[in-house]
Amino acid sequence: MGQQGMGYNNGKGGGGGGLPMTAPRPRGASPLSSHHHRSRKIHRTFNNVKITVLCGLVTILVLRGTIGLNLSLPNQPTDADALAGAKAVEDIDRILREIRSDSGPDGGGGDDDAGDLAGSAAFNATALNATEAAAAYADAVGRYALGPKISDWDGQRRRWLRQNPGFPATVAGGKPRILLVTGSQPGPCDNPLGDHYLLKTTKNKIDYCRLHGIEIVHNLAHLDTELAGYWAKLPLLRRLMLSHPEVEWIWWMDSDALFTDMAFELPLSRYQGRNLIIHGYQDLLFEKHSWIALNTGSFLFRNCQWSLDLLDAWAPMGPKGFIRDEAGKILTANLKGRPAFEADDQSALIYLLLSQKEKWMDKVFIENSYYLHGFWAGLVDKYEEMMENHHPGLGDERWPFVTHFVGCKPCGSYGDYPVERCLKSMERAFNFADNQVLRLYGFAHKGLESPKIKRVRNQTTKPIDDKENLDVKAKISTTERS
Ligand code: UDP
Ligand code: MN
Repeated sequence: MGQQGMGYNNGKGGGGGGLPMTAPRPRGASPLSSHHHRSRKIHRTFNNVKITVLCGLVTILVLRGTIGLNLSLPNQPTDADALAGAKAVEDIDRILREIRSDSGPDGGGGDDDAGDLAGSAAFNATALNATEAAAAYADAVGRYALGPKISDWDGQRRRWLRQNPGFPATVAGGKPRILLVTGSQPGPCDNPLGDHYLLKTTKNKIDYCRLHGIEIVHNLAHLDTELAGYWAKLPLLRRLMLSHPEVEWIWWMDSDALFTDMAFELPLSRYQGRNLIIHGYQDLLFEKHSWIALNTGSFLFRNCQWSLDLLDAWAPMGPKGFIRDEAGKILTANLKGRPAFEADDQSALIYLLLSQKEKWMDKVFIENSYYLHGFWAGLVDKYEEMMENHHPGLGDERWPFVTHFVGCKPCGSYGDYPVERCLKSMERAFNFADNQVLRLYGFAHKGLESPKIKRVRNQTTKPIDDKENLDVKAKISTTERS
């Protein structure tokens, strides 16, 4: 528990996976005023000469590459190869620049339900004194909404379910229908390896969901541009609840969290009468007021009016800019251990539950009997030990259900830990989990740090008769060591 907190620092200050935004100058805008016409003309002529010289140089280089030195050894890279390589790098850079310049504040989506906060950008915090800022903050927060107020969702949903028996809220075996939701920034990662690990963490989630009959959504859009970054999950969860009345539980999981127990299943029957299931510790929350008392990297909402209300109460600290900055000060002043930075979704939820305990807590289940969220630093070095002594299906410290790379920012560039340590640890977590999947097909990774695999079961001519081949659950949960 103590360990769990170690890494939770101002990593969130890095901007929630934002991209370096380029602010394009308005078309035609020039830094020169009209009476600089003459010097501008001279300037332009000079520039033209420069370009001509440059073109000449390139031509010479290309010619030299193609006819001159091509008589050298065939396998040796020629100048032409070098030029082609440079061109490829240039092309990649240009494409990345184009994608990125499009992901600015206007690049987001336009959900008609999304909150409209015309006023928020207009505030200039520096021009206000403390009292004025507090009043402006209260006003802006009061006007923010995720969307039009819905007050009879339970009734609407019940009617819809009655009229659409083909889309029941339960799945095979009478289990409640679950939708797993994850997401990542709209553009490419700052570090290209980040995209590789996004693919791996997504593949890991697809595997878990496939094995357990859970539906999955991976979102890349900012449905509400005010709530970019780690706040993006709020409008998304609301939108998905409303668009999928057949879904009973909606489960958010961060992109940097992996399932590491492929056999464990949520003990949903334990949660009757509860609407929010989140990993954390009661004493850290109500006694310590700790900013890591809960973790918003993996939590579940029941699809109901209460959850919509909670989202409404949770969201107002999220709009970026003035509100998020001011709210950050309130959160840092009230939550133990919180560094000074803009408001993040996790602190805001903790603060809400602390300040309105009576209103919300009877429907909140704080879970810590298994790792609905497990802090990576205390887990990733113990996987071999776990494989030696335990088996999947336990979900707790013996075989953690979820390993979450809090503070790693594999896709961004401002993590709290060395990037190599994060990536190596993610590779270990991925392979640890992937072994449980590959085993179904008779394979396993050669080691936790190796993407290479080996065969661990002999092939058979009667795969259907070989019961072990088909009994998916039994197979995941038995350690067939090799
Ligand atoms: N995220 C998103 N869209 C974005 C940026 C982030 O959906 O534009 C999600 C992503 O799944 C990420 C999560 O927000 O994992 C929270 O951020 P992060 O995991 O970096 O925070 P940490 O867990 O390190 O506090
Ligand atoms: Mn995370």
